[in-house]
Amino acid sequence: MMKLNFFEKYSQDLVEYDKMDKDFIDDAKIWSQLSKWENPKQADVRRVLKKAEQKIRLEPEETAILIQNQDNETIQEMYILANKLKREIYGDRIVFFAPLYISDKCANNCKYCGFRSSNNEMVRKTLTMEEIAQEVKIMIEEGQKRTVLVYGESPETNIDFMCETIKKVYSVKSQHGEIRRANINCAPLSREELAKFRQVGIGTYQVFQETYHHETYKRVHPENTIKGHYRWRLYSHDRAQDAGIDDVGIGALFGLYDWRFEVMGLLYHSIHLEEKYNGVGPHTISFPRIEPATGTPYADYPEYAVGDEDFKKMVAVLRLSVPYTGLILTAREKPEVRREVIPLGISQIDGGTRIGVGGYSKAIGNELPDREQFQLGDLRSLDDIVRDNCTMDSIPSFCTACYRTGRTGESFMGYAKSSFVHNFCMPNAIFTFKEYLLDYATEETKKVGEKIINDYVLRFKGEALYATIKDYLKRLENGERDLYI
Ligand code: SAM
Ligand code: SF4
Repeated sequence: MMKLNFFEKYSQDLVEYDKMDKDFIDDAKIWSQLSKWENPKQADVRRVLKKAEQKIRLEPEETAILIQNQDNETIQEMYILANKLKREIYGDRIVFFAPLYISDKCANNCKYCGFRSSNNEMVRKTLTMEEIAQEVKIMIEEGQKRTVLVYGESPETNIDFMCETIKKVYSVKSQHGEIRRANINCAPLSREELAKFRQVGIGTYQVFQETYHHETYKRVHPENTIKGHYRWRLYSHDRAQDAGIDDVGIGALFGLYDWRFEVMGLLYHSIHLEEKYNGVGPHTISFPRIEPATGTPYADYPEYAVGDEDFKKMVAVLRLSVPYTGLILTAREKPEVRREVIPLGISQIDGGTRIGVGGYSKAIGNELPDREQFQLGDLRSLDDIVRDNCTMDSIPSFCTACYRTGRTGESFMGYAKSSFVHNFCMPNAIFTFKEYLLDYATEETKKVGEKIINDYVLRFKGEALYATIKDYLKRLENGERDLYI
């Protein structure tokens, strides 16, 4: 019944994709590029690194060389350069967010996901508007400013409902603040539906392709579900762009197929968007690894599980290949993995995350919901993760200024490409972190955090911005909030 609903609902739109003879992912070509560069020479790797150093998006063959590099000496060089690029382009900061799970009801049956319709062990729930307000209030009181709303695909969570949830999230005010940016992770939608999202002011629209490999995609997503339609998903970001949403996030779920192929898929996807939309590639790339999930045997033993060393290499390759795309590392990963991977080019992480529907309210009493989409690796509080981050020579940021000043899409790419981000993002990171310290931090975090702020402010000494930064910090101490450049 559900199946009929979604195929019928999108039947007009699906025609467009069903009549294409091919899409922009050519499986055979990707494999031939990877095979061509099996075990490349040091000189080939260094040639690619030389290009990457200029902060130019790499071509698929160049990325294949980095992916296939087995030589420890040049792998270390890749890590050093990935770290350098991250610092030069994004500054020494990490942007924090936390997901908000709205509904685990889902008509699809993805083999790896705890929310899939055939999973009888999952307790199904869609938050009411009151419950959303309650969750958001808790998040705000922990210090969150950015969230990503997550939904299964169900007639109950249709576009109008999702728009209401976004409005609700933005409407909640607590003593010190509010959520200033709500991103979305939901099923692919039609252009008409996406236009409604635009009206309610969503941040990034994220859809993960899960796997770019056509055959694997077919195997893990039953064909009688709308998720089984590879191209409906593959072109979902195109439809978002067509509907005026120029801030889109792509991703792959690692463990379904060979990680090397997926990285190539992510690159081809970025190139496709760049070429079609005036140089505007994806705003972010996500690369979750499959985690165990309630009632989901497939997730216990993913066919192509990615080990930690390959995971590190994969992140560095992405940083070097698409220097201007944000990279998101989630709390699916354990703290020790996050510490190692963040310096390789990550620009966003989540902290204080709870992924059960209603998870923030339940966690208040330290009660963890036992039926979730998957298991989290990093259950530390936001305050603990923020403090840990301060020891990694990077400032935690809760900034949302770009989105609110219209610096997204084409204009964002222009700013990012001229390293403009450094001059805007770093001061804004300082201001939002100061707010966090004043309003939410523990004494221990305040101590470490104030020191980091002083160190970072000193970096601006001698620049025109120095006086502005000092002035804004004073104003924040005097009770003003939400100051940004
Ligand atoms: N239902 C929407 C969809 O599938 O696009 C969006 C929400 S879904 C809950 C968000 C993402 O969670 C999926 O795109 C998938 O990559 C990821 N995911 C699903 N099962 C997972 C698992 N067992 N471990 C880690 N991530 C998982
Ligand atoms: Fe549903 Fe998304 Fe989970 Fe698939 S990944 S079962 S579509 S929630």
